[in-house]
Amino acid sequence: MKVLKFGGTSVGSVENMNAVMQLIADGEKKLVVLSAMSGTTNALVEIADYLYKKNKDAAFTQIANLERKYETVVKSLYKSPTHKKEGSKAVKTAFTTIKSFTSGEFNEIGEKTILAQGELISTALFTQVMKENGFNTKLLPALDFMRIDSDKAADMQAIRPLIKESLAEAGEADYYITQGFICRNAEGEIDNLQRGGSDYTASLIGAAIDSKEVQIWTDIDGFHNNDPRFVQNTKKIEQLSFNEAAELAYFGAKILHPQTVLPAKLQNIPVRLKNTMNPSDSGTLITHDASGIGIKAVAAKDGITAIKVRSYRMLMAYGFMKNLFEIFEFFKTPIDMVSTSEVAVSITIDNTTKLDDIVRELKEYGEVEVDENQTIVCVVGDLIADEQGFAAKVFNAMEGIPIRMISYGGSRHNISVLVSTKDKQATLQALSDHLLA
Ligand code: ADP
Ligand code: ASP
Ligand code: MG
Repeated sequence: MKVLKFGGTSVGSVENMNAVMQLIADGEKKLVVLSAMSGTTNALVEIADYLYKKNKDAAFTQIANLERKYETVVKSLYKSPTHKKEGSKAVKTAFTTIKSFTSGEFNEIGEKTILAQGELISTALFTQVMKENGFNTKLLPALDFMRIDSDKAADMQAIRPLIKESLAEAGEADYYITQGFICRNAEGEIDNLQRGGSDYTASLIGAAIDSKEVQIWTDIDGFHNNDPRFVQNTKKIEQLSFNEAAELAYFGAKILHPQTVLPAKLQNIPVRLKNTMNPSDSGTLITHDASGIGIKAVAAKDGITAIKVRSYRMLMAYGFMKNLFEIFEFFKTPIDMVSTSEVAVSITIDNTTKLDDIVRELKEYGEVEVDENQTIVCVVGDLIADEQGFAAKVFNAMEGIPIRMISYGGSRHNISVLVSTKDKQATLQALSDHLLA
C-alpha cells in the first residue's frame, strides 16, 4: 500500500481538499497522511503563546477567528446536511478542547494538545468529504499508533505493531486517512514530531507497513536546486539519492522535514515529491541510486550558534576533544559542524536551550567565544566524482562573503560553510549564479 502525504496548502481550502479527493480516489488502496490546513498550526502556536503569557483576551480573539474560519469551511465543503452536521461536530469538539485550556495554569500538555487540533480537524473534515462522495474511507487515529520515546525520537518498535493493530481494527477500506505531525510520547501524553513533522509521519508509516512508495504532495513541483523563497530561477531536480536528500533536508530545505529520509532509506522505500497543484509533473524521485556527478543543490539552515574554545592546553594534548564533546553529550545538544586549528576548536549547534550550561563548562577548558545568528549553507552532490575541484568553485563563487567556518570531507556528498545570517541571501544567490546556472 502506498502512503501519500498532503501538506498544509494541499488541504488549505475547500477547492484544494476537493482536488486532493480527485487525486487519491483512483480505486487503488492507499494510506493518506494529512497536515493541518495552512495557517492553522501557526495560529494554534500563537494561541498557546498568549496562554503562556496569560493574555487571555488575545487568546480568545485568536480562537474565535480560527473557529469562524472553520465554520465557513464546513458551510461550503459539504452538500448534504448530514455531512455538514458531522463536520460541524468535529470542529466543535476541537474548539471545546482548545477552550478547556484557557482557564487554570497553562503548561506543555495544554500546548501540545492545542497544537494537535489542526490535524485532528483537517482529517475529520476530509474523511467526511470522502464519505459524502461515496468512497470507502476509514479514519485512523494517529494518536493510537504514532509514538516517540523518552529522547523524543520516533519509536519504530512501538509504531510497527500498533499501526497494524489500528488497520486491522478499522477493517477493510479503499482509503485510510490519518493525521500527520501528532503522536504520543513515552508518558502517553499528546506530543508532536516538531514543525513540518507530517512528512516524517508519512515516512515512518511507510517504513512500518513496508509501503511500496511514500509520496509527499506539496505546493511546488519537487525538490529545487536552491531555496525558491530566497533565490530566483531555481530548477527542479528530477532525481536525488537518499543521502543527498537527507543532507539537504537536514540543512534547511523546507520541502522535507529533516528526518523524513532516514526511515525510507533504511528500508529502501522510494520517496516521490509531487505538486498537488500540478499532478502531471513528474516531481522528484528519491532512491538509493546515485544521481549523476557534480554539484546538485544548495540549502541553508538558520538559527545556528557557533562556539569557539581556544586553549593552549589543546596543543599536543590527547583527550581534549573527547572532554569537549562530552559536555555537549551531557547536555543532549547535537553538534552540526566542527573545525579545528592547533589551539582552537569551533563547534556549531542549533539547539541553544542549554547554551549557558555548556559555555560555563567549556570555560574550564579555555577561552570561550559565542557567535549567534549564523547560517549553515550546505552544497550537496556527488562531489568526489567531480574532478574539477568543486571546493575551489564554492570559494570562488563566494568571493567577498566572509566565511566563519568550513566543513568538508565528512561525507562525499556535502561541503558546508558557516556565514552570518545577514549574508545568507547573498551566499545562496552567488552559489546559484556560479554553480547551478
Ligand atoms: P507543506 O505544507 O506541503 O509541507 P512546506 O511549506 O513545508 O509545504 O514545503 C514546501 C515549500 O518548501 C515550498 O513552497 C518552498 O517554498 C520551500 N522550499 C525550501 N527549499 C526548497 C527546495 N530546495 N525545493 C523546493 N521547495 C523548497
Ligand atoms: N501542521 C504542522 C506544521 O505546520 C505539521 C506539518 O504541516 O507538517 O508544522
Ligand atoms: Mg512541510
